[in-house]
Amino acid sequence: MTGSAETFQFQAETKQLLDIVIHSLYSQKEIFLRELISNASDALDRVRLEGLTDADLLGGDEALEIRLETDPEARTFTISDNGIGMTRAEVAEHIGTIAKSGTRELVERLQSTAGGDAAQLIGQFGVGFYSVFMVADRVTLVTRRAGEENATRWSSTGDGTYELADDNRFSRGTTITLHLKPADPEHGLADFIDPMVFQGLVKRYSDFVGYPIKAAVPAPDAKVDAAPEERVLNSMQPIWTRPAADVTDEEFTEFYRHVARDWGEPLDRLALRAEGRLEYQALLFVPAHAPFDLYFRDQQFGLQLYVRRVLIMDRCQNLLPPYLRFVKGIVDAADLPLNVSREMIQQDRHIGQMQSWLSRKVLNHLKQLLESDREKFRTLWGEFGPVLKEGVAGEGDVRDRLLPLLLFQSSHNPSALTTLDEYVARMKPEQTEIYYLTGESRAVVEHSPHLEAFQSKGYEVLYLVDPVDELVAERVQEFSGKPVKSVGKGTVELGNEDERKQAEADLSEQRKRYGSLLEFLQTTLADDIKEARLSSRLTTSPVCLVGADGDLSPALERMLRRSQGADAVTQQKRILEVNPKHPIAAKLQERFEANQDDSVLVDYAQLLLGYALLAEGSELPDPARFNRAIGDLMVKGL
Ligand code: ADP
Repeated sequence: MTGSAETFQFQAETKQLLDIVIHSLYSQKEIFLRELISNASDALDRVRLEGLTDADLLGGDEALEIRLETDPEARTFTISDNGIGMTRAEVAEHIGTIAKSGTRELVERLQSTAGGDAAQLIGQFGVGFYSVFMVADRVTLVTRRAGEENATRWSSTGDGTYELADDNRFSRGTTITLHLKPADPEHGLADFIDPMVFQGLVKRYSDFVGYPIKAAVPAPDAKVDAAPEERVLNSMQPIWTRPAADVTDEEFTEFYRHVARDWGEPLDRLALRAEGRLEYQALLFVPAHAPFDLYFRDQQFGLQLYVRRVLIMDRCQNLLPPYLRFVKGIVDAADLPLNVSREMIQQDRHIGQMQSWLSRKVLNHLKQLLESDREKFRTLWGEFGPVLKEGVAGEGDVRDRLLPLLLFQSSHNPSALTTLDEYVARMKPEQTEIYYLTGESRAVVEHSPHLEAFQSKGYEVLYLVDPVDELVAERVQEFSGKPVKSVGKGTVELGNEDERKQAEADLSEQRKRYGSLLEFLQTTLADDIKEARLSSRLTTSPVCLVGADGDLSPALERMLRRSQGADAVTQQKRILEVNPKHPIAAKLQERFEANQDDSVLVDYAQLLLGYALLAEGSELPDPARFNRAIGDLMVKGL
């Protein structure tokens, strides 16, 4: 029964992507085969996994395999699998649309990106199937979902429309027929009908695939006119079971592309073997680029979990903690039952132990990378640093391993990032604390008045300017035995013991002098500040605002207001610090002593508050009032 065909339009973004795939990946046309084999292998994994709980699903057709066939006369190349197959609805959903959020943005980015980067971006979106149109001018896909009665035929010339029809296919799985374009080896279009060519591609890209990839090809030692015989083209040997020294970089890369569904090269890889009470192996990769959905809340990440070489779960989220979710790869465990369910995995004690062992190993490896190849680590940090920082919120052991990996901007060198260890090594002999300042950007924090006293002492200050840094700062009280302290909070005592004593004596002297002015400021600005006091952190600015030790930083407060609504976060009052060495302080004091009811003094108090807010990059609560006061002041001054 072959039902009447219906014609559909590709979704607009799909059409655009198709054009880009065809035109930007011209140098890599042969990868269509890798993409189709990857899809077939996934479909076989799925039918096997579903077959574990639904014994009828496999029927009598249990030898899972992939087949390649060619017809030189018709110039067709066909790939079939007896995998899970697709229903008509699934075909329409997967093979006519790209049902991932963010597709439009991707298309926009792609249109302004050159070849190699375009390939990398496309890979993230899994438009693998569409690569067929680089080599074929017509493609037909016939498929029947395991357990369903009806089969579907999809066909398209890749020009913007596709046809869907019923089909009378009897067996489970999917067959894709490519009507090949004429071979044009000079432009990267090999003759894929040639057994030498497709055998080579299977070996190169798909050797490790866990199902036989079969084709009728001449035997290696056959006479010229001997009939071809059916052979398995791939070794099917899982790459992690081979001695690492025998596996080439290229083979590792192809395996990475398969598990990570990436088209690029991995940045780094790590092979691990645990022996002891629990035996398992892991082959892990760090991608070179963050996937676009790394921060999507409901995105599922995870390693593939194998039990004795058999895939039992595609994205097992319990093998690595969320702050290592960017790591791709596989774990092959010897001692788990083959039929573990997701629920069992979540509770399994062994999985928990594997997670802590694997994350320890990965963090150790990252530490080594930091020490041996700073540039590579810097790249990794640029892509995944904010994710690693999420782990700092975790408990003791993890935090201790993560902290040495963190990189920060600092006042030491505007063009390099520093680790905490490097900071500590540069600390002045009498310096006892690690200093930082949080804020929205380097440009804002590096001009903050809070830094003045630290700069004049030559103390380095870390600039924590990534939004997650606020949480890092909340969590990290000390490093390497040194307290970690914000230069924008609490009081400041710098220098050696003598210097501190001297500073304290000076300050108490100044307090006598400025006591009444401070009281006046505190009363006048009572709605905005909780205290006015003299500052030991200012050298050139007249005033600044600081928090008490446990207070939220102004940037964090703003972040919370934005995310939870202005009413949910009570406005914190801060402390106004006045620089006793600044002429403004002395002049104000004089004027205050001369005439305590001077209304101009109230304006000055407001101006000082505004000054302090602007200097640290905060917004003025009432800019109009601030401007009026400045205007009045100018009139008086001129
Ligand atoms: P990706 O594989 O990265 O998701 P593709 O464009 O290659 O992207 O494939 C889209 C979807 O089509 C797959 O996720 C899968 O659901 C379905 N599909 C593709 N090929 C097959 C196949 N041989 N058998 C079953 N489903 C398939």
